[in-house]
Amino acid sequence: MNAARPFAPQPIVTKMPKVGTTIFTVMSALATERNAVNLGQGFPDFECDPKLVDAVADAMRRGLNQYPPMAGVPELRRVVADKIAAIYDARYDWDSEITITAGATQAIFTALLAIVHPGDEVIVIEPVYDSYIPNIELIGGTVVAVPMSTDYRVPWDKVAAAVTPRTRAIMVNSPHNPSGTILRDADMRALEAIAVEHELFVISDEVYEHMVYDGEPHQSACRYPALAARSFVISSFGKTFHVTGWKVAYCAAPAALSAEFRKVHQFNVFTVNTPVQHGLADYMKAPERYLQLPAFYQRKRDLFREGLAGTRFRLLPSEGTFFQLVDYSAISDLSEAEFSKWLTTEIGVAAIPLSAFYEKPVENGVVRFCFAKKDETLRHALERLSRL
Ligand code: PMP
Ligand code: GLN
Repeated sequence: MNAARPFAPQPIVTKMPKVGTTIFTVMSALATERNAVNLGQGFPDFECDPKLVDAVADAMRRGLNQYPPMAGVPELRRVVADKIAAIYDARYDWDSEITITAGATQAIFTALLAIVHPGDEVIVIEPVYDSYIPNIELIGGTVVAVPMSTDYRVPWDKVAAAVTPRTRAIMVNSPHNPSGTILRDADMRALEAIAVEHELFVISDEVYEHMVYDGEPHQSACRYPALAARSFVISSFGKTFHVTGWKVAYCAAPAALSAEFRKVHQFNVFTVNTPVQHGLADYMKAPERYLQLPAFYQRKRDLFREGLAGTRFRLLPSEGTFFQLVDYSAISDLSEAEFSKWLTTEIGVAAIPLSAFYEKPVENGVVRFCFAKKDETLRHALERLSRL
């Protein structure tokens, strides 16, 4: 017998040389290991409405367990189109313009895959959600990062100045993770003007659309016709209904954009979990189930902020999302990553360093807490944080 040749596969030349494990996974693992209160990764620690679980279980029992149509279950797409019409006064055709995706993460990547060619530039606003930059780079696009101002607003003059003949798209996120900033009417008009002037696509990540506080409206890209005409508007049922692990979201875009989006979607995931789509469609027939969300989360935000007011953290505004940024420079001069680890291991509360949301880490002495937690969890964390 021939001696077996040792198996020596070609080494993989990584396509993602800068990428390790996401900060959310790293901090959640550390929180579990140290038994810390996990205010790091953004997910609720409370259950969703049992009626939603019943609606999904019911769909399973009714035998709705095979592949749905490629773009999503019609009942869900109809209810989404009706919701957008009712709230944002914009009419999307449920059949040709709404696509159900496997989470917003897939929707964002799919939109980028549909429009970005190698060498195209995509403008992102920093701090930026962690998947955008690796997504752009995987496609061979070039990231052009425009920093927010020191008070975490978007400097539209700098965005306009960053546009070149190679720019293909601008990515925006409102309410914004991690800063909690919301884009106002003037912001949306500035975005619209830039996108129209330079014929750019817009990817509008609105996963926190139902978490806007103090009576402010959510200024969806859907509300602005010239902007909507070039936008992929993305939202996530995971955020809205406290089921981040279900990973179901949608993309609303004009028919021509949706057609390209679906070309990618059908060869990426093809379709998304059938009974969950039916369950969501059923559940969403009662609009108060998402319309009560601002009040629900504003109370948690206020409880958390009141608790932190007695510490040496400096609180930044949280206009939307379920995140609260705090400046810890009066407490420590550790880097944000080191401070987050220290806070997790020594104080027993996990946070996310803001530096994780930058292409080239910058240090602001700021970390992010998530307040999508039971009141008792927030109180427990506050008890520990009040030592600082
Ligand atoms: N965009 C932003 C700004 C997010 O915060 C998140 C998740 N936290 C996503 C997209 C991804 O959403 P999903 O879980 O539906 O993929
Ligand atoms: N988007 C969530 C956050 O910002 C986490 C999602 C994830 O772990 N990828 O915390």
